[in-house]
Parts: sequence; structure tokens; C-alpha cells
Amino acid sequence: MKYIIGNWKMNKTAPESIDFMRKLSSFLMEDTYDFNCHVVIAPPVIHLPHCFQFSKEINLAAQNLAAEDFGAYTGEISAAMLSEYVKYAIIGHSERRQYFQETAVILNKKITMAFKYNIRPVFCVGEKEQDRELGNYFNVIEGQLNETIMLLPDEHLSNCIIAYEPVWAIGTGKTPSLAQIEEMHAYIRKMLVLKIGKYNASKMPILYGGSCSVKNSSSILHQNNVDGLLVGGASLDFMHFKEIIECSDTSC
Ligand code: PEP
Repeated sequence: MKYIIGNWKMNKTAPESIDFMRKLSSFLMEDTYDFNCHVVIAPPVIHLPHCFQFSKEINLAAQNLAAEDFGAYTGEISAAMLSEYVKYAIIGHSERRQYFQETAVILNKKITMAFKYNIRPVFCVGEKEQDRELGNYFNVIEGQLNETIMLLPDEHLSNCIIAYEPVWAIGTGKTPSLAQIEEMHAYIRKMLVLKIGKYNASKMPILYGGSCSVKNSSSILHQNNVDGLLVGGASLDFMHFKEIIECSDTSC
């Protein structure tokens, strides 16, 4: 079963969100729809209540959650509040790390909050372009995992979804080669096998994210160890996102 997660980031008005969700929900309810896929949308938080009416067909994710449980944190949204609407939360996205200075310490608090309120983390890791050029990318990803989700008790780690998102591929139209994607996913899987054993590691979804499009999604999804996609820009257009979902059909 593949995961296709659309991250709308800071895009779409309320009417635009509802229009998209209505179209997506109708598509997923069609008799002919038989794809091997969990579809998840991460809308801006203010649209979660509108989008929730479609939650029978479409799972929802938060794009972020507060590191603290409750209290005097102006502007923050807690995991408890989000848990009324979402099953998943994106944590560790490179934009949060870069623009909001989210360090491993903060990310670990957010992961703790997610589990406290039964929200499944979609934990993002990714190397910068310079790390790729210097051949340092395995170390970077290993470091990002070791200082965060690898510290979790095994039952929590096993319940995480990992998204490998090279920072240089996000929103740039550049993607790693299929071999580079497969190589990194295999590396992450190997780390998981060492930590939680072959069976549990094989069940953990490892998604790819970074300039996924209608053109490249099918081939990326067919790589070993790629269990789905985290889609940014291409998730904003219903027809593009629908075609990406159709790529998750094993026959395509
Ligand atoms: C993302 O930001 O998670 C992402 C994958 O963006 P894009 O698809 O636009 O590169």
C-alpha cells in the first residue's frame, strides 16, 4: 500500500480547499477507483475544519504542531487541538528547519507531542546540495535520524513514516536519479533493520519527496524501498495530484 501525501504549504483559500477536496473525494469514491494507495492532504491549519467533512475518503495531516502541550504560546496550535482533525503530522520539513530554526531538540518535543495525541509523524530528512556534492549525504541523513526518531522506543519508531526529501530537490524541478533515490531509501531501511529488526523495518513506509510530478512519479514509486510520495507543488492542482495517485496503481 503506497502513501501519497499532498503538502499544500501556505497555499489555497478556504473555497479553493473545499473545491479541491470535493473533487478528490468524488474521484476516490468512483467505482472504478481501485488504487493501492493511502491519500493524505496536509492543508493550511485554518482549513482543517472545512476539509474534515471529506475525511472518510481523504486522511488529513497537519503541516506542523506545537512543541509544547498547552499554555501561553501565542500563535501555536497544539497536538491535542490537531488530533480532532488529523491522523498524521509532517515534522522536520526542511522549510521548518530552515525558516523556523527547528533543531533536533524541538523536533523531538514535537514527535513526543504527536505520539501523546495519537498522531502519526511523517518525519522528513534530507541533505543540502552541498552535502550531495561533497559525497556526505549518507552521514547527514544518518545524523538527522539518529538525533531524532532513532531515539524513540521501538514501538513508536515503528509507527513513524519517514520522508526522504533532498533539500535541493524541493520546489526546484531537480530530482535525484532513480538509482540515487533507491540507494538512499535502501540505506534508511538498513538503519531501521539494525534498530527494530527486519520484519518491523519492512513495514515502515519510506516516502520520497522533492519535485514529484506527473512525469516522474510512476518511475519513483516503482523503486524498491519507495513506499509513497510527499508531494508539494504538484499537489496544488487537482488534475496533477489525481494523476500522481493513479501512478500508485501497481499495474501502471
Ligand atoms: C515538499 O515541500 O515537501 C515538497 C516535496 O515540495 P515539492 O514537491 O514542491 O518539491
